[in-house]
Amino acid sequence: MLSLLSFLSTFPHMMNLQMVDLKSQYLKIKQEIDVSIQGVLDDAAFIGGKQISELARQLESYLDVKHVIPCANGTDALQIAMMALDLQPGDEVITPSHTYFATVEVVALLKLKPIFCEVDRQTFTMKADEIEKLITPKTRAIVPVHLYGQSADMEPILALAKKYNLFVIEDNAQAIGGSYTFSDGTQKANGTMGTVGTTSFFPSKNLGCYGDGGAVFTNDSDLAERMKMVANHGQRKKYVHEIVGCNSRLDTLQAAILLVKLQHLNQYCDARRMVADYYDHAFANHPNIISPYRASYSHHVFHQYTIILEGVDRDTVKAKLEEKGIPSMIYYPIPAHRQKMFDSFGIKSTELGTTDWLADHVISIPIHTEMTEEQMNYIASTFIAIINSLI
Ligand SMILES: *Cc1c(COP(=O)(O)O)cnc(C)c1O
Repeated sequence: MLSLLSFLSTFPHMMNLQMVDLKSQYLKIKQEIDVSIQGVLDDAAFIGGKQISELARQLESYLDVKHVIPCANGTDALQIAMMALDLQPGDEVITPSHTYFATVEVVALLKLKPIFCEVDRQTFTMKADEIEKLITPKTRAIVPVHLYGQSADMEPILALAKKYNLFVIEDNAQAIGGSYTFSDGTQKANGTMGTVGTTSFFPSKNLGCYGDGGAVFTNDSDLAERMKMVANHGQRKKYVHEIVGCNSRLDTLQAAILLVKLQHLNQYCDARRMVADYYDHAFANHPNIISPYRASYSHHVFHQYTIILEGVDRDTVKAKLEEKGIPSMIYYPIPAHRQKMFDSFGIKSTELGTTDWLADHVISIPIHTEMTEEQMNYIASTFIAIINSLI
């Protein structure tokens, strides 16, 4: 008799394989979400409704941080943080090039100078020794990105920042719900260790809403006050504009959705980790598939499951996966320092060997909160079969 798996393998479209399955996730919490949305409609407080401050309070308690300020998206969150820190044109900001472009775009937008740092080949994040090589008298800030759901190694980065008196802006768009363990055993939530943390509530992120959203976190009350002002036209009091700001608000509807989803965040992180465990097990000891490294200091929340492929052509693998109904993504195909936008920035000479190498060798396969055993089995076994057919 045909097993369910071999039956489904013949018709992969029936398995509904997606990088992220927001529809199935919604259907499981439909009741709670619909009630929460209806609450906003009933009040008609679409901007600045009570759900906004309620979300901020709940996130403060979840993350154990003094201040959370919601805003319009994760890119704005970075911008608000950098504006509130009063970084000036020409100030140098050290960021990875192997990241989502928003991280470095904001630096350029504010006429700051991005200084691209190499990432570690194992963890995909910046390390303190590489950062230190780039510090000059003009350096003002370091932006570690907790990429794919794993925190950068923060303890040495924080020590470096202290030594050189630099701000640390954690781009935590991909790792909310994850944490970092210091050498003395203390654990802190990602995004709460530096001067300021930023996140995105883009639908596919680990804590996603049903549109755009973002937030900044900090333990510094003065900075929190300034960020609140920056996000609100530079005003503390209506029609009194003290500093240059912007307009960056989270919609009340999105806050209402996030209030529900925050209750499920730990369970969502666990579900992602279970998929990662499954893949790790399936790919263990395969000479061409390097599974994501799990650093002992990090509680990884697997925003992505990003593999390094060695000895096989990555783009051929991607095309063959597609033929079998399995989506995959390259995060990120062109490193930031190679983007045309930076042509005029005089960074052409930047040599980032590992970053360039990763752009040619990484591939991310589906990982989300709703994956079934059949889906994981089909993806893992098909992936291995494809690689084996190419070596
Ligand atoms: C998604 C993301 C952002 C930007 O978030 P948006 O809400 O899309 O503006 C910034 N940095 C990283 C690392 C991201 O993954």
